[in-house]
Amino acid sequence: MRSLNTPPEKECLRIHRENRNGSNWSTLPNGCRTEILEENLANQNNVCGYCEREITPESSHLDHIRPKGRAEFMALTFETSNLLASCGKTHGQTCGHAKGGQILPDWLHPYEHPNLATLFKVRDDGYVEAKSDAPDNAQSAIDETLKLNHQTLKSQRRRHIALLNNIQNDEELSPEDIAGFFIGFPTLTKFVLGLT
Ligand SMILES: [Zn+2]
Repeated sequence: MRSLNTPPEKECLRIHRENRNGSNWSTLPNGCRTEILEENLANQNNVCGYCEREITPESSHLDHIRPKGRAEFMALTFETSNLLASCGKTHGQTCGHAKGGQILPDWLHPYEHPNLATLFKVRDDGYVEAKSDAPDNAQSAIDETLKLNHQTLKSQRRRHIALLNNIQNDEELSPEDIAGFFIGFPTLTKFVLGLT
């Protein structure tokens, strides 16, 4: 996971937020939801805000970082600062869908933490590990709440690492050039290529 700038608020969301009755997400028109998702995807360079897999409007959804189903976060239902593009359109075993109504540690917020990427490392087997100076609840949040070490994600990361290493060994290209070939797993790419 990495930190992100909060995307600008879409006009349709502002209007809806100012005129809404209650906090029912389903009252937001579909067209507006698509506009927000596209804005967030651009803001995230087309990767999931949690696992950093490459995503498209067809393979992603808007996740409420602080769950909209929780009474204490209901007021954040239509806040841009609580919306993140996550992998999985209608279902999924990781990220926003795995989290569901569970609450992430307060500090684990891509728009609020200054540099989330510095708290984690990826082992050669694709496992994301919280560094020793990360908060105590970091590993359980990524393992149990977001399921970022799901088998599929681990193998995708393993393949990504192998691919990067192969290119680096075989081609006379700068790390920056190699990084430019890839959309998915940008933090891992930088880490493997020594660009951090
Ligand atoms: Zn994801």
